[in-house]
Amino acid sequence: MQSDCIFCKIIQKELPADFLFENENLVVFRDINPKAPVHQLIVPRQHLRSINDITISDGQILTEMIFTAQKMAVKLKIDRSGYKLLFNVEKGGGQVIFHLHLHLLGGWK
Ligand code: 5GP
Ligand code: ZN
Repeated sequence: MQSDCIFCKIIQKELPADFLFENENLVVFRDINPKAPVHQLIVPRQHLRSINDITISDGQILTEMIFTAQKMAVKLKIDRSGYKLLFNVEKGGGQVIFHLHLHLLGGWK
């Protein structure tokens, strides 16, 4: 938990969010400003700043994030039509929340 981190506060339920899934390792909630008909954020409970900060020991959580995205896509029936998975990395890469998260985007006609 990092006290000035919005996503840590959402995970701790100190700030509201539209939760779609959670388990002991990660949470999934709706993006507040969706850039696609489906826009969910897959967020590890552990505070990691960005992809720059991960090491091989974080492999398990990264794998779980991707599998969770796959399951959410099936649940939403966008798996066959297709979707995007996106990590923005640091300011130049468009990252504005510095708590690692995977965007699941899809649902276009
Ligand atoms: P980034 O640009 O850091 O990869 O993505 C951050 C995402 O978090 C953005 O798409 C933004 O709309 C979303 N976001 C920012 N603040 C909040 C919030 O308080 N609640 C929710 N649900 N999403 C947020
Ligand atoms: Zn955080």
